Amino acid sequence: IIDSIIIDGKAFAAILREKVASHVPAFTSATGRAPGLAVILVGDDPASNVYVASKHKATIAAGMQSFEHRLPATATQNQLIDLVQKLNADENVDGILVQLPLPGGMDDKAVIAAINPEKDVDGFHVVNAGKLAVGEDALVPCTPLGCLMLLKDRMGDLSGQEAVIIGRSNIVGKPMAQLLLNENCTVTLAHSRTRDLENVVRRADIVVAAVGRAEMVKGSWLKPGAVVIDVGINRLAPADGEAKGRLVGDVDFAEAAPLSRAITPVPGGVGPMTIACLLRNCLVAAYRRAGLTQPK
Ligand code: NDP
Repeated sequence: IIDSIIIDGKAFAAILREKVASHVPAFTSATGRAPGLAVILVGDDPASNVYVASKHKATIAAGMQSFEHRLPATATQNQLIDLVQKLNADENVDGILVQLPLPGGMDDKAVIAAINPEKDVDGFHVVNAGKLAVGEDALVPCTPLGCLMLLKDRMGDLSGQEAVIIGRSNIVGKPMAQLLLNENCTVTLAHSRTRDLENVVRRADIVVAAVGRAEMVKGSWLKPGAVVIDVGINRLAPADGEAKGRLVGDVDFAEAAPLSRAITPVPGGVGPMTIACLLRNCLVAAYRRAGLTQPK
């Protein structure tokens, strides 16, 4: 039973990546080049290095061009913005991603604002956030887009569902709320000042946890039969004999799984969807820029 309850984000992401790859040849024969994704990494944060490497690998595997740009941690914000502007003007680049977090002293907002919104495959530019808010075609942030795909795959039509999202970041919580509102859910966006969070969560048919606190959401908080999407990635302190601590989500999986209609594990749930959706956004951006009809 538990297998059918667990949402296999890894398998779903693999299918999505193949689907994206299947639309690359038509683009290439129409334009004479493959869709291109440029990723900029400033400094040498180890976690960011891992993310950038896996984005590069997935981009190549999908048959797209990957352009990696590395700037030293000592680079100035103006140098970074100059590079973004060069990529804005580069016809071979359809998507630009600036790996966050940026080194201290740099202003994320100013850097993101410099990206051409048509190439903003992370969906963080205010133009894309605004389009999503008013229900226009936007490039949507990858993590919440992946969560929505998993939800629709499991639940079909989401109309009328009570959705509670915990966390209101611009990267996950807020765009998730917009997406679920567009699907006609009744949406509650909870955060650190929410009163009586447990009871707020208990009314949800759909719970999306994007907080960054290990196993915060307990089984007793859930309405039995809720669908639980766990975005959190938290590393526990190593137990005896472990070199590294275990990765866990924001939901206490052992308690929540038996009560849930469906639940994403950590790892292997939402995480793999993020890169797959990045490739999907890059494909969409490429088709749009070339004036071609977008694949479904
Ligand atoms: P942020 O730190 O930007 O936001 C966290 C949110 O959680 C804030 O809105 C904060 O509220 C809220 N919060 C903090 N403590 C509580 C609490 N006790 N009760 C209720 N709400 C609380 O995080 P992100 O949105 O960037 O990321 C959230 C998690 O998702 C992290 O674990 C991150 O690693 C993971 N993540 C995973 C991705 C993936 O690919 N799977 C991609 C992106 C993120 P307030 O606004 O009031 O401070």
